[in-house]
Parts: sequence; structure tokens; C-alpha cells
Amino acid sequence: MSKYIKYNTDKYNQKNYLKFIDTIKLNRFDGIILPLFRSIETIKKYNFKTEYYTQINKMISLAESNGLKTAIHIDVFNSYQIWQHDNFSAPITHLGLNYSPDSNYYPICPNNPLSIDRFENIIKRLSTIKTNYIILDNFNFPFNWIKEKLDIQHKLPPYCYCPFCLTEFSTEIGRIISNHIDFYEVLPEWLEWRTNVIYKYFIELVESLSEDDKLIILTPPLHLIDIPFTIGQLPISFSEAETKISPKLFYNKKNEGSAWATNILNLYNLDLTKEHIVPALHIEKDNTKEILPFNSDDYEDILYY
Ligand SMILES: [Zn+2]
Repeated sequence: MSKYIKYNTDKYNQKNYLKFIDTIKLNRFDGIILPLFRSIETIKKYNFKTEYYTQINKMISLAESNGLKTAIHIDVFNSYQIWQHDNFSAPITHLGLNYSPDSNYYPICPNNPLSIDRFENIIKRLSTIKTNYIILDNFNFPFNWIKEKLDIQHKLPPYCYCPFCLTEFSTEIGRIISNHIDFYEVLPEWLEWRTNVIYKYFIELVESLSEDDKLIILTPPLHLIDIPFTIGQLPISFSEAETKISPKLFYNKKNEGSAWATNILNLYNLDLTKEHIVPALHIEKDNTKEILPFNSDDYEDILYY
């Protein structure tokens, strides 16, 4: 089993980075997770004009020369910087209002042209990076699953109703869809189209990667059948393409401790084999003591955030 831990920093500093490497080696970690983008908190705090970390390749080579593996963490459809763009328009909620962002969640609709440009740029950057894993986070339609209530039976689901979604979907089905009533009539087609939008992004990325590149997709820690309808992610279809699925067990909104994490993993095990699952756990700051809610030998890799 290999354990990866996320490196969080406001500003890159080689001395601090090497100190972090020493600490995690002492605590028997095998790899380091490096963010492709600066965190939203950091961009706001220092008013950075670019969201990309510029030192990624240097950080990878320093980690490797210290015997560590590396993984690149990419926040795909969540970008504070895109929200500041002059041409940006926010996702639209089922109430017809602009989506209101949370402190660390500025979702961008996958159908927004700025999201498409950003994704092309991610692919270009990845072609210059050699790493053990590429981790996709927020690889889905806007939905703040920690705060928003999920009701898949609701006749107006919490989807994105932005002009790009309306236009694209109308083109797809050859009928102009303009309001919520129209949407209700074409719900099955709409569900399928949303998962296809995400899947097309996935295929584009997979085709751009070399055979050695391995992907992990982070998902909300909810039961699989609830997820695709809301965020357009179909974990089973990703796993068929040798991609691993990583339920975010580091968010415990129900506060039920380790039993909760075990239950979620059991639910994922119903649809996916253990080789396809990479649990993502939380580690307390300055506490690298390992508390595993499951048998770690069952899993090839574990991520710590
Ligand atoms: Zn949209």
C-alpha cells in the first residue's frame, strides 16, 4: 500500500518544502500530492493574478530525488480566477438565480466556454509534467454537496440552468428548451446528456495522456446511485477505463466517525472492485498518527488531505 499526502502552502519556498518532505518520510508516507492550482484562499489572500503553481516540475524532481512518488491534484470545475474574468457568467440555479459561491467553492459550468479553455490549458500543462497519478477534483457540474440538499425526486433538480446548458442541450435534442416546465418533459435525455458532457471531457483527457499516466477521480462520499443525477459523474464508466475512484472520506458532514467511512466504502464496493477504489482520508495537522477506519491492505493506494 502507498500513502500519499497533500502539500498545502500559501507560497512555495524550497526550504519549507524540503522540511515537509523530511517530515512525511519520517512518518512513512510514500508520496506527495501537489496542487496544479493555488488554493482559492491563497489567491484571495495575496491577490495572485495567475492560479497556476509555476514550480510543479521542480517540486516533482525534489520529491523524486528523495524517493517519493508524486500525484498532481487538479481542481477542474472550481475556479475563483475564472469567476473574476470579464466574460464570465455564473451557473444558474433551479430557482433561476446566479449560483452563490462558497468560500472555497466557485463552481464553473462545464459548458461555459471559459471552462473549455481552462481544460485545454490543463491538458497542455499536463503534457509537460511526469507524475505517478493525476487526481481530478470537482470534475462535475456545480453542486455543493456539503451544503445543498440532494433530492433526486424533486421535479426541478439542482442542476445548472445557465444559457450555455440551455443552448447546448436544445441543440442536442433538436428542440428549444427555455424554461423549467420544458425541462421536466425531457428529464431522461437531460440526465444522459449531462453525464455525456463530463464523459467527453474525461475521454479527451485520457486520449491526451501517455499509457503510464494514471488517473484518480475524487467523488463526493455519497452512494453511487445518487451522484450521477446531480453532478453528471458516472464512476462506473470511469473505472472501466482503468481510472480509480476516490470517495472523499475526509469530509464527514454527519460526524459519525470511522463507522461512517467504512459504510461509504462498503457502498462503493458494491459497484466497484477494491482495486478501483482509492480512499481519501483526512489527517489532522501535526498529527500523522494513523487512524484507519478499514483494513488498509485491501487498497493499493490511500490519499491524505
Ligand atoms: Zn450550465
